[in-house]
Amino acid sequence: MIIDLRTILQETQDFLFVLEEGWWRPEGPSDPVLGMGKPLRVRIRIEKAGDKYIFDGELDGNILTRCDRCLEPYSHDIKTSFHLFLALQNPETGEAEIELLEDEMEVDFVEGEEIDLNNMVREQIYLSLPIKTLCSNGCLGLCLICGVNLNTGNCQCRSEKGHPGFLKLKNLNIEGE
Ligand SMILES: [Zn+2]
Ligand SMILES: [Zn+2]
Repeated sequence: MIIDLRTILQETQDFLFVLEEGWWRPEGPSDPVLGMGKPLRVRIRIEKAGDKYIFDGELDGNILTRCDRCLEPYSHDIKTSFHLFLALQNPETGEAEIELLEDEMEVDFVEGEEIDLNNMVREQIYLSLPIKTLCSNGCLGLCLICGVNLNTGNCQCRSEKGHPGFLKLKNLNIEGE
């Protein structure tokens, strides 16, 4: 959804929309967001305050991402809110520029005086992801030796040679002797 900032006058405007599952297109194989688990409900309120625009948004949905431990895709709830400020850099041409931002936010949703709310939502989905994505806190991950997913399968590595973690400890003891 593209909003022309010039159409936002003094009063606040609410934009409510739903992005269907097919909306998300992963950006290549390294995209942490593989897809959406259900339609994403978006509410964005835009308020003009002097020469600034204040964006208050809420996202409610569910995405598919990959577990950092076992590498399996799992569904991760997205329930987040955000606040952004935009200022018109050049009121004559109507060119907008982000004035205050959260760190490391990429600004690729502003083009001239037009704001692409979909791209803004996209950025916020990335920002809402935890540093470590885990399918569950108790995820057992992959066997460090044979790579089997220990949540769904067993391997012989543990019973024959001991748990990889304990192997490391044993080695440490030997070195210390
Ligand atoms: Zn996992
Ligand atoms: Zn194994």
